[in-house]
Order: sequence, then C-alpha cells, then structure tokens
Amino acid sequence: MFPTTARVVIIGGGVIGCSIAYHLTKLGWRDVMLLERHQLTSGTTWHAAGLLTTLRDTEAQTRLARYTQDLYRRLEAETGQATGIINCGSIQLAITADKALEMRRGLAMAGCFGVEGHEISPADVKALWPLAEVSDLTAAFHFPNDARVNPTDVTQALARGARQGGARIFEQTPVTAITASHGRVTGVVTERGAVSAEVVVNCAGMWAREVGRLAGVNVPLQAAEHYYLISEPVAGVHPLLPILRDPGNSAYIREEAGKIMLGLFEAAAKPWGSPRIPAGFAFGEIPPDWERMYPHIERAMKRVPSLLGTGIKLLFCGPESFTPDHNYLMGEAPNLRNFFVAAGFNSLGILSGGGAGYVMAHWIANGRAPMDVWSVNIRRTYSWQDNDRYLSDRIVESLGIGYQDHWPFRQWETARNVKKSVLHDRLAAAGACFGESAGWERPNWYAAAGQQPDYQYGWGRQNWFGNNAEEHAAVRGRVGLFEQSSFAKLQVQGRDAVAVLNRIATADVDVAVGRCVYAQFLNDSGGIEADLTITRLAADRFLVVTAAFTQTHVTAWIGNHTPEAAFCLLTDISDAYAMLNVQGPASRALLTALSADDFSNQGFPFATAREVRIGYQTLLAVRLSYMGELGWELYIPTPFAQPVYDALVEAGRAHGLRHCGYHALNSLRIEKAYRDWSHDIGPDDTPLEAGLGFTCAWDKPGGFIGRDALLRQREIGLPRRRLVQFLLADPAPLLYHNEPIYRDGERVGITTSAMYGHTLGGAVALGYVAHPEGVSDPFVTSGSYMIDAGGVRYPARASLRPLYDPANTRMRI
Ligand SMILES: Cc1cc2nc3c(=O)[nH]c(=O)nc-3n(C[C@H](O)[C@H](O)[C@H](O)COP(=O)(O)OP(=O)(O)OC[C@H]3O[C@@H](n4cnc5c(N)ncnc54)[C@H](O)[C@@H]3O)c2cc1C
Repeated sequence: MFPTTARVVIIGGGVIGCSIAYHLTKLGWRDVMLLERHQLTSGTTWHAAGLLTTLRDTEAQTRLARYTQDLYRRLEAETGQATGIINCGSIQLAITADKALEMRRGLAMAGCFGVEGHEISPADVKALWPLAEVSDLTAAFHFPNDARVNPTDVTQALARGARQGGARIFEQTPVTAITASHGRVTGVVTERGAVSAEVVVNCAGMWAREVGRLAGVNVPLQAAEHYYLISEPVAGVHPLLPILRDPGNSAYIREEAGKIMLGLFEAAAKPWGSPRIPAGFAFGEIPPDWERMYPHIERAMKRVPSLLGTGIKLLFCGPESFTPDHNYLMGEAPNLRNFFVAAGFNSLGILSGGGAGYVMAHWIANGRAPMDVWSVNIRRTYSWQDNDRYLSDRIVESLGIGYQDHWPFRQWETARNVKKSVLHDRLAAAGACFGESAGWERPNWYAAAGQQPDYQYGWGRQNWFGNNAEEHAAVRGRVGLFEQSSFAKLQVQGRDAVAVLNRIATADVDVAVGRCVYAQFLNDSGGIEADLTITRLAADRFLVVTAAFTQTHVTAWIGNHTPEAAFCLLTDISDAYAMLNVQGPASRALLTALSADDFSNQGFPFATAREVRIGYQTLLAVRLSYMGELGWELYIPTPFAQPVYDALVEAGRAHGLRHCGYHALNSLRIEKAYRDWSHDIGPDDTPLEAGLGFTCAWDKPGGFIGRDALLRQREIGLPRRRLVQFLLADPAPLLYHNEPIYRDGERVGITTSAMYGHTLGGAVALGYVAHPEGVSDPFVTSGSYMIDAGGVRYPARASLRPLYDPANTRMRI
C-alpha cells in the first residue's frame, strides 16, 4: 500500500535527497518518505566523477566538504554498503603568479577550518605524479586527506542507512503537484496518489526549478553540458595517484581503472535542457560536441603528455545544474513555509552531499541551519531570476568560474544590465565603472577623464586604487555623492506595526515620528539575521531599509514573524524610490544651498528624518551615515530623481562634490568599523560578540526575539569571541577578507572584511578574536597581532573602538 501521509516527503533520489533522508533518521525522524521519479541516482548523480576536494571558496562550503569526507569514510562500516572511497589526496596546480597567490590565501583560510594542505615544489608534484608535466608550474599544493568515491555507491549507502533508520523510499514515483494552504505546504500529489506531509523537500536536481514551480517557489538554476573523457589504458597510472586539479587548463585529472579520466570546466559552457528537460530523461547522456570541446581537451592533455598519444575510450557529456552565482540553493523557501530546497550543486553535489544532508536535516528539524550558510541560502535569490534567458546566459559563465582566477572585486560578465537606476546614464556619463549586485548595475568607482571605466584585476593595487583614494578623501574632506537606489525599502504599516517590529528588532522602534533607529533582527539563539535602519514615518508607518542583496531574506523574515492576526502590512516599495546619499562635512552647505529647509544640527539632528524640498521636488531626507561623516540619505520618488540629481551635481561644483562608488562606501565604513551583514555579522554572531549590544533595548515591553539567548550569554560572562578592527603597520600590503589573525603567534581568528583605509594609511580589516576564557578589553589590547596575507604575516594594530573618529564627533557636527 502506498502511504497517504508522512512527516516529511523528500522529492528526488540523488545523492542530496538520500543524504537528507539519512540525516533526518539520525535525528530520530522515522516517518521520512523519499519519492524518486525513476530510480535512485538516475538524474545527475550516477555519472559524477566523485572527486572529494576540500579547498572551497567559502567557509560554509569548506566545512560541508570536510564533513562529507569524514562521513563517507565511515559509511561503509555503518551501513554495510561500500562507497568505493579511495584516499588518494589531491594536488592543485598554479601556472601564474596570481593563481599561486590566490591558492596560498585559500590554503591559509582552509587551514582555519581544519583542512590539511601544504605547498609543494614542482619536483614533489613529479614524484607524486610521474607522468605529469611540471615545467610551467609557479606553485603546487598537496591536500593529503582529499579522496574520491563512487557516487552511485555513496548514494546507495546513504539510502541504505536511511532505510535502516526507518525511512521509506519509493522509486518510479514522480511528484506531479504540491499542495499548500495558508502559505504552508501540506503535501504532494504523485502518480500513485496524494501524500499529506508536514514538510516537503525539493531535491530534484536539475528538475528542481520545475518542481519549485509546482509550489510557486522560485529555484533559479539551469542545466548545462558537463564533460569528462576516459582514455584507453595508460601505463604507470594507478588508483592512488592524487587527483590533479589544473585550473590554468580548466581541467582535473584522475585515475579510472588503469585509464585516465580528464574532466573539464571550460570558461564558456553550453546550457542544456532549456526551456525544458526532455521528458523521461533518466540515466541520460548528451551527444558530445567534439568540435567545441576538442581545443579544451588538447590543451588539458598537455598536463599529462602521454595522453596525447593515447586513444580516447569515451567522451562523456552529462547534464548538471548550475546557479547564477555558482553557489548552491538550500533552505526554506522565502514564500512557502515548510517547503525546503536543496539543489543546484554546481558540480559539487557529491563532495558537499554529506554536509548538505547534515545541514538540511538540522534546518528542517530545528527551523534553523546549524551553522551560517548564507552563501548557499535560497533566500539570497530574487523572483526576477526565474527567467530562461537570464539563467542560460549566466550559466555560460558560472559553470567554469570555479576554475578561473578569483580576483578580488571580480565582476560577472554575462547576464548584466538586469536592473538599472533611472540615473544610470547620467552616472555612466560621469565615468561610473559598474558592478553588479542583486541584478542592479551599481557604480563601484568613477574613472577620471580619459580613463577607461574597466577593471584590471590582480591581487595587488588594481587600476582604480587611486580613484578610490580620491573618492574616499572627498567624503572625509568635502562631500561625496553616492547613488544607492538598489537598497531595499520596505514599508511596514498598520495599527500593529509597532508591536510587530518591536518584537523582531533589537532596538525600541516605538520612538517619536521622524526618528530613525539602527537595529538588528535576531534568531532565537541571538544570531544576527538582519542589520538595518527603521524610520518612523507616522504613528502606524515605518520605513525599513536594508541592503539590496538581503531583500528576499528580510522580507521573508518580517512576513514569517508577523502573527496571522496582526494588523500589519508589509509593502516592498524599493522601486518606487531612488536613493542619493550625500556624505561629508560640506553636505550641509550643499543641501542648504539647494533647499529652504533647515539642515542645521539643531533643526535636523542625527538619526532623524523629514520631508524636505529641493527645487520643485519633495523627498524624504534621513540624517544618517554608514561612513562616519555628516550626511543625509535622500529617498526620492523615482520620477523626481533626475532633477534632484542634476541640482545636486550643479550646486555641488561649488562645494567640491565628487561622485563616489561602492568601493569608497566600503573603504569608508571599514575605517569606521561599521559592520557589514553577511561578512562581519551573521546568524552565528550575536550583537554582544559583534560589539552591537548598544542596539538592544533590553527592557522594552515584550522583549525581542533572541533576547533570552543574549541574556544567557551575558550571564556566562565575557564573550568567547569578539569583533575587532585591525590596521596593518606596513602601508603597502592589501587585505581582502578570510585572512588568519594571529595573537602572540597563536591563531585566534580570521578577517571578515577588509579594504584599504586611505585616511588611516594602510589596510584595515575587521575580524573575530576568540579566546576560550573570554575576550576582555585588556586581552584584545595587550596582544601582539599579525595577519597572514598569502602566506606572509604582517604586524597589525588591534582596536575595539573605531580607529577613525573613535569619539564619534564627525557625524554629529
Ligand atoms: C560529468 C559530471 C561530473 C561530476 N563530477 C562531480 C565530482 O567529481 N564531485 C562532485 O561533488 N560532483 C560532481 N558532479 C556533480 C554531481 O553529480 C551533482 O552535483 C549531484 O549528483 C547532484 O545531486 P542531486 O541529488 O542534487 O541531483 P540528482 O542526482 O539529479 O537527483 C535528483 C533526482 O530527482 C529526481 N526527480 C526529478 N523530478 C522529480 C519528481 N517530479 N518527482 C520525483 N523525483 C524527481 C530525478 O529523477 C533525480 O534522480 C558531476 C556532474 C557531472 C555532470
């Protein structure tokens, strides 16, 4: 009999679905049902190469890969099903100085998360891989604990473990519909009948977008052709040869039953299965495009020259799904409660599969991920990404990005110009070099007359370093104009708006009309889920402003924490307003020249807002600063934005106004030690650790979400980790983020964001310092610090107070 109810239904029997089922049963969930359209592994999993390499781009992905390795090592003993694991290690090769530097930085970061790796010489590579060509190497890195597995066997082992824990797995059972009621999923419909369920998990791999649509949930991913070849047998290859990752040739190489497997991550890939995956596609292959792939193959074969004279037994092409930013999609859908997604694994599904299952199972069981996984959280996506043309165009670039150079500030080149502000053309005429965030084209820096507004990437000072210095100086000394229309603007209104926001936000929002408060939203553990400003526009109306990339997440957070009976309406008014930010000591004089309104310190105090008139236009001015200077954010109804901009630029000439980009915003805010959500603060960091306890209105009626956890943390004593600002003593080196921090020779943390501080005269970083007995002020200030940038340690000064304007005087003049 086919069951009609289950506590959780998992859709998809690839490595991800089976891993989630396995981990849920480990948490004691017995009523777990997995539904597979065809047979287990029949989607993408069956043909994966099975590499388990741990050096990844982000902390979350590195941790998931590490966990996966450990799990797969013990799975056979636990379940009785072999996984085909071979502990062969891996070697990463660099053929340029830039790539060598990037890998040294990656190695240092990964070391902080327990990944063992060592830089080795070309001669060492030759000793480990005698057939490899090493004459072009600038550096190489050995990861002795990396491994490979048989993906089908791993999936079967996970499925067996899940069954042993009580899960029921049904093959040949396609899900054809998803049911929901009152914003909450209620079950699925299959060709064998309907199943009601508390939780539904979409693990349908490259079909996950289609399955998401059944539930009205956006899952932006797209399949693409993905290749490896298998040679005829090659003398001298054996299973213990380490996996060779050769990014310079967009390739990896490993042994396969006495032959060589060569896999490719070409820089320009080919989308597949758009707009629909062919019906009935299972254990499927795609006819290989020899002509397109041959140049890549020939180049990659030069790494093992004996391959050039060996026959090719198979050129395999199978589809895998990729996402617009090359990070996978996990978590609860922003618009449907208890509907979870784990898909779009960008060819990392086997090596992340164990960790993904672990994280998802805890997320489902506890309502929260067990660690900060923002970089892979589905709430970083946007509804406009559900667009075939956009996805296909971007996936051309995203498939191979993992094997490209990951220079700081690197921008996507494909699928650009999704969103433009109404001022875009004016900003372009002013020299803007645009970067992309949340689909928006945003000025990152402005070129000088005669200079091309293009990036020249590298790990040293890039071509715009001088432009950034001038923009930075303009804000500190005169006035800068920032175009920030991309910021998300949410209106929260209704007679219960105060109560709803006061329960969610750390600060007390029950302030006088016209006041603006800085606040965080916390989870139950006191971790920071959002960092934003809330302005009271009327007794029952608030303007919530947050960074563009958090729009989906913050909207969902407020929606999910608004009681059903509350009289409180959230409206996304982001696109109804442009935002211009005027910052710097001359901002008052500039605005006063344009407006009859009172911009004096008494007439318009810090953290207040009011309607003002500039020319014929009426707009909302909010006196705030994220850069540590006197300044006003101007929220202008979109049709009025151009005349206001023109007036500011015209009048600005007399005040030395300069256009400034997001890089200047970043360098200014890091000097002032202002935190950036997702870098410096996130769901695993509490306000007490982050130095933001001052936003908490401890005694406001009804408290706030996360307050109890913070009180417990306070009772225990000093936080075990605290966010600290660092300034390198040497003005030359640059920092970016993810650099290990050493105190008295001992590693105590890692930087979370960094930029060049042009006023302070050196690289400035924020980062956590940890100490098991608690981090006191004297502990921070008494240590001697070094920060590791690319394998070289530089002395740094540490401070708990902002090194720029510690007394906070400049914003309040
Ligand atoms: C050539 C190649 C090499 C690769 N090499 C590696 C590697 O070395 N290391 C690595 O980590 N990753 C690798 N990958 C990627 C890896 O294979 C995938 O990331 C992983 O298999 C994805 O697993 P999944 O469970 O998300 O998807 P899938 O394995 O595709 O599983 C999804 C399942 O959902 C089922 N399904 C779909 N719709 C429905 C429905 N309506 N109802 C019920 N069931 C449904 C499908 O039939 C399918 O079985 C490689 C991929 C390719 C193509």
